[in-house]
Amino acid sequence: MTEDYEEYDTLIIGAGIAGIEAALTLGDAGRNVLLVDKSPTVGGIMAQLSKVFPTLDCSACIATPKMASAVYHPNITLSVYSEIEEVLKHDEADFRAKIIQKPKYVEWDDCTGCSLCEMECPVIVSDEFQHHMRGRKAVYIAFDIAVPKKSVIDIDNCILCGQCEKVCPTSAINFLQKPVIKNVRVKSVLLATGFELFDATLKPEFGFKQSKNIITAMQMDRLLAPTRPYNAVLRPSDGKEPSKIAYLYCVGSRDKTIGNELCSQICCMYSIKQSQLILGALPLADVFSFYIDIRAQGKGFEEFYQQARDMGAYFIKGRIMYVDEADNGDVMVKYEDIDDKGKIKEETFDLVVLAVGLWPSIAGVAKVFKGVGLETDALGWIKCPICNPVETNIPGIFAAGCVTGPKDIPDTIVEANAAVSQCLVYIETHSGST
Ligand SMILES: Cc1cc2nc3c(=O)[nH]c(=O)nc-3n(C[C@H](O)[C@H](O)[C@H](O)COP(=O)(O)OP(=O)(O)OC[C@H]3O[C@@H](n4cnc5c(N)ncnc54)[C@H](O)[C@@H]3O)c2cc1C
Ligand code: SF4
Ligand code: SF4
Repeated sequence: MTEDYEEYDTLIIGAGIAGIEAALTLGDAGRNVLLVDKSPTVGGIMAQLSKVFPTLDCSACIATPKMASAVYHPNITLSVYSEIEEVLKHDEADFRAKIIQKPKYVEWDDCTGCSLCEMECPVIVSDEFQHHMRGRKAVYIAFDIAVPKKSVIDIDNCILCGQCEKVCPTSAINFLQKPVIKNVRVKSVLLATGFELFDATLKPEFGFKQSKNIITAMQMDRLLAPTRPYNAVLRPSDGKEPSKIAYLYCVGSRDKTIGNELCSQICCMYSIKQSQLILGALPLADVFSFYIDIRAQGKGFEEFYQQARDMGAYFIKGRIMYVDEADNGDVMVKYEDIDDKGKIKEETFDLVVLAVGLWPSIAGVAKVFKGVGLETDALGWIKCPICNPVETNIPGIFAAGCVTGPKDIPDTIVEANAAVSQCLVYIETHSGST
């Protein structure tokens, strides 16, 4: 009956840390998993971070062993660089999905990840994995710690010069590749598509894109990471080492004017983390945080905040009025100093970092659920009941990680494993398999 379908116990959509953790637990429990991601590598945002709060462990050092274990696990089939076309529930424990594997124009079985093609390619475009702080080639490996470490060709920017084909030692380049359609039949689905970063241009008063020296905290995490775009923390306009840096908190969070009253939960903590890392990397720098409230509610979080103060980071309870370019690429911040009777003040910085909030990324994937629609809440996050925060309105479809709302990595891991337990119960009670 299902000859045309590949069969798995669970389809996991999204291979960030939530999807990876869930796949590993399900795989270890003997279940067959299909793990799908739209990107050419697994790992999501965690693979791009510098260190993690509040322990300052290296994010890549924790993430990469899990990324590799998931990719090489005997019970996990990986489909990266793939889009979900549709998911349809036929019956309990019987979901049918159509997945389109985009052409990579490189035969991955032959690609050794040597990067010779990348060195020869004459086309340079903006690098999305470095959050547009440097260039990449038209043929590229997603980033240094990508898993799988294989090349893809960005055909929209390729000029078909053939240089990559000439130098590839394994003849892996194949311009004739076509999209591959995969039809799969699964007993349960786990949604782990994470979040989007708030687009700071929607709040023009913060000056994003009006000055090169106003960056997002995601860009700063890249500047501090071992796989960073430059070998130091430099400001983008002129490569100067910044000596006075401002963090502006709650950009795109707790803000009725843009319809998002939600606290993004992690921005205070990642800003405090980055302040500590900057004070380590640039010992002579002054780092200021302009905050509404410091929300440091978690094990070790308050101590981590106090540690930043003890290291010399400055914290100002201040509401930002606007941010503007000043002389020599510097940036002026005008603010209301709440602890100084609400006085209006101005201060100039070498570099301004926007602590942008987390926004739902579900819009693209929600539409693939045909028949009964997948319910989202008023802000667009996947809707889950209070008493079962990984359950969706469609029995058999579960959700974990930032797809249900902003959260940090430990909470994401907890949710991933909670969702796995629900998947296992659902499979066992509805398909009779053990
Ligand atoms: C600047 C910054 C610093 C942070 N620092 C810390 C920290 O120090 N400590 C901490 O605990 N947390 C930190 N976090 C939070 C942490 O990044 C998240 O908790 C974690 O990434 C959530 O994992 P996730 O798997 O839910 O989502 P993601 O990491 O977003 O992964 C989602 C995956 O789904 C894929 N995907 C999306 N849509 C689709 C689709 N339609 N089809 C297929 N695949 C899709 C994406 O490509 C991605 O691989 C930070 C976040 C930011 C932005
Ligand atoms: S495509 Fe060829 S040249 Fe490029 S990384 Fe793979 S093996 Fe090396
Ligand atoms: S054919 Fe395309 S990917 Fe290959 S080297 Fe030329 S521009 Fe780069």
